[in-house]
Amino acid sequence: MRNKRSVFRKNPLFEKCPSCGNYNTLHRSHARSLRERLVKNFTPYKKYRCGQCGWRGYRSTLNFSRGSAKVIIFYIGLIVVVAWLVKQILGRFMP
Ligand SMILES: [Zn+2]
Repeated sequence: MRNKRSVFRKNPLFEKCPSCGNYNTLHRSHARSLRERLVKNFTPYKKYRCGQCGWRGYRSTLNFSRGSAKVIIFYIGLIVVVAWLVKQILGRFMP
């Protein structure tokens, strides 16, 4: 059986530049400000720079497949249902 992982790690270094469309031109860019450092540490987004056209921007290092979107929607639905149940139970025992 194949291991079905819903979220795959990917390396944006091998993706094409979103600005000029060339491959193998992206380089990791150093975080220059506190905000960029926070984004780098707390999100899957990292700052990249294109050596061809000078584009700078964030690329995600996570690849969300169609399957993972379903899983995320399922968990959001579950949280809503649990929150609703907790509200009902609290309302019953603590009027
Ligand atoms: Zn480019």
